[in-house]
Amino acid sequence: MSQEKCLFCRIASGELPSKKVYEDEEFVAFHDIRPAAPLHVLLIPRKHIASLSDLKPDDAPLLGRMMMTVGKLAEQLGVAYTGGETGFRTVFNTGPGGGQEVYHLHAHILAGPGPWSRMG
Ligand code: 5GP
Ligand code: ZN
Repeated sequence: MSQEKCLFCRIASGELPSKKVYEDEEFVAFHDIRPAAPLHVLLIPRKHIASLSDLKPDDAPLLGRMMMTVGKLAEQLGVAYTGGETGFRTVFNTGPGGGQEVYHLHAHILAGPGPWSRMG
């Protein structure tokens, strides 16, 4: 898939609409169009990386910052783990064997009362 046609590259650039909850120079987060949980947000790097299996050694700092952003986002969304029953789930699907549908790296952030419809 070319980057010009990549769905999430087009969402990141604003060419396609999305319900954005966060963006900075490197990452964008927006609500999943087909939520599997009461809160279901996707976090993507602006850089086109197809999947976890396509990472290059140079991507390691970006991935570190992406995971830091997951924590920050969870806080912003009010689902961070602060004790008791609080918290959220982070999912990366990779390849057909992992249920990946969109080949632009993304972290699913899921939270809220279950049961969830998928990725539970
Ligand atoms: P994957 O299965 O690749 O891990 O997850 C892709 C996710 O992207 C799915 O949960 C799906 O609902 C979501 N998705 C697919 N197309 C769109 C879209 O156009 N907009 C938004 N916001 N989410 C999408
Ligand atoms: Zn892309």
